[in-house]
Amino acid sequence: MADVNTIKSAAPASDAAPHFPQQVTGMYILAETLRRLGLMHVYGLVGIPVTEAAYAMQKVGINYYGFRFEQQAGMAAATHGYLTKQPGVLLTVSSLGMLNGLTATANATVNCYPMIQISGASDPDMVDMDMGTYEQLDQLNTARPLVKAAFRCSHAKDIPRALARAYRVAVSGRPGGVYIDMTTPALAEIMDAADVEKLFYTPVDVASPVAPNKEAVARAADILSSAKRPALLLGKGAAYAQVDDKIKTLVDTYRIPYLAMSMAKGLMPDAGELSALSCRSTIMEKADVVVVVGARINWMLSFGRGKWNPDVKFIQLEVEPSEIDRNVPVAAPVVGDMGLALDMLLDEMKGRSMSADPAWLASLQADTKTKNAKFAARLADAARLSPMNHWSALSVVKPVLEANPDVILVNEGANTLDDTRDSVDMSLPRHRIDCASWSIMGMGMGSAVGAAVATGKSVVAVEGDSAFGFSGMDFATICRYKLPVTVLVFNNGGIYNGIGVNPSGADAPAPTTLDIDAQYNLIGKAFGADNYRVDNIADLRAALEAAIASKRPCLIDVQLAADAGKESGHIGYLNPTPLIDYTV
Ligand code: ADP
Ligand code: MG
Repeated sequence: MADVNTIKSAAPASDAAPHFPQQVTGMYILAETLRRLGLMHVYGLVGIPVTEAAYAMQKVGINYYGFRFEQQAGMAAATHGYLTKQPGVLLTVSSLGMLNGLTATANATVNCYPMIQISGASDPDMVDMDMGTYEQLDQLNTARPLVKAAFRCSHAKDIPRALARAYRVAVSGRPGGVYIDMTTPALAEIMDAADVEKLFYTPVDVASPVAPNKEAVARAADILSSAKRPALLLGKGAAYAQVDDKIKTLVDTYRIPYLAMSMAKGLMPDAGELSALSCRSTIMEKADVVVVVGARINWMLSFGRGKWNPDVKFIQLEVEPSEIDRNVPVAAPVVGDMGLALDMLLDEMKGRSMSADPAWLASLQADTKTKNAKFAARLADAARLSPMNHWSALSVVKPVLEANPDVILVNEGANTLDDTRDSVDMSLPRHRIDCASWSIMGMGMGSAVGAAVATGKSVVAVEGDSAFGFSGMDFATICRYKLPVTVLVFNNGGIYNGIGVNPSGADAPAPTTLDIDAQYNLIGKAFGADNYRVDNIADLRAALEAAIASKRPCLIDVQLAADAGKESGHIGYLNPTPLIDYTV
């Protein structure tokens, strides 16, 4: 990139107004930079000062998706990043729009999804002097602690470099969210197109995978091959890395039973011969070597302590060195890019034989059979209930989704999340998007849009009624862009359930109570989607099958019993112990 600092913005001559395309604004430079970086999908919500930027993006051929709430645009960008390994791009306005979007960028950073939030921002000179300008907020410093990196463009000439750097930061090492403060002066600045042309460049080797060292890999192979009761634990970092074949080779060649974290389901088939998905607690208790592939040993894995075999040896394949030993000593860290790490490990394992006790795999397989039969009986029992509970609904959602393995499943809620995750077997990688590491609510409609756009595939979002409320208005976005997305709202009338009682005796609703009689399907009707309201499994099956086949937007209200579901689903233990009595 030559001479960036010598390029001056062209002051409009007093006798002639500036003209496109000989002259361009920062808005256009932004759009053109995105196009040249190959970032052809932008999710956003426009207003002052970025409206023209979105039009400029469309003008240069970028696909722009306009949302109703910035957070959902951000969830779409994050999902796009996770599924494609290219940063998803979010465009927001200043102040509240920026903050609304930042929640998604922070969430993406926590989940190691690459994305770039570009936000309009007030003139920093005015912000710094606290002049009280339009939508004044020190956005750069607000964003900084929540993202992987933050940049500010105060001049149009900085835009190409800021975006190229943001791209590199977002996708290299541990992926994450990057924030760019796109100030009004930079967006408004007019430059000669010929000068602008010199600013563009293509970053070389943008994700730059780094290999682990050989000794680390040899150590891992020694431990793995000498394991008596080995297991492999797959996380969404492994799914993200798109190294599906290498993982399959490792598992199949060395006959290692595996289990998957929520979003890694399907990376190896949940119902595969070596799947130990239903033996999670046995593995924690008894495995002597666990290969952790792209997962953090965090709260979701009891921090590697307590329920775990105290003598378990962890082998951890991980790109971020500071992750190692975070909660528990790791016997064999393999720090580096997943693809290179697996290549080297497979190489190192060649010619070695495993010392695994054959009884270990056999007992996990027998256990799996028993547990699966129990689970099937539970679903069959629930199928007979009227009104339905979550399991009744899932008794048909499960077979329909399993018969359509190429449909991407978006899933959030409390019981709706837990029960759907436990019921629906995934057989393809990166086909399950959920509320991930923070276990948040409010990712549904945005993620559904991002998944449909990034892959061109059909999406089914299984949403609790409360979860749906956080993003429901962006069902309109699904309809406006005519995406093949079906949304199921499991309506049990509340957060957790609909039987909360106001302890004051007054008739105001309890804190957990929502709307058991709501007709969520009418939201679909309002925006021209196909819509159904069902209260039995036969109608649910018919509606879901028709919706998937239609490849059109569809909203299905699934009426459940108000007492279906328990507080906090499977993670009620995380609630502080209550001292007052309350009913949920
Ligand atoms: P899960 O929630 O499924 O357990 P986490 O998000 O906790 O997964 O962990 C994913 C891990 O994968 C993170 O620690 C991240 O640094 C790591 N990771 C992401 N991409 C790569 C990659 N390309 N190579 C190696 N590790 C990666
Ligand atoms: Mg509910």
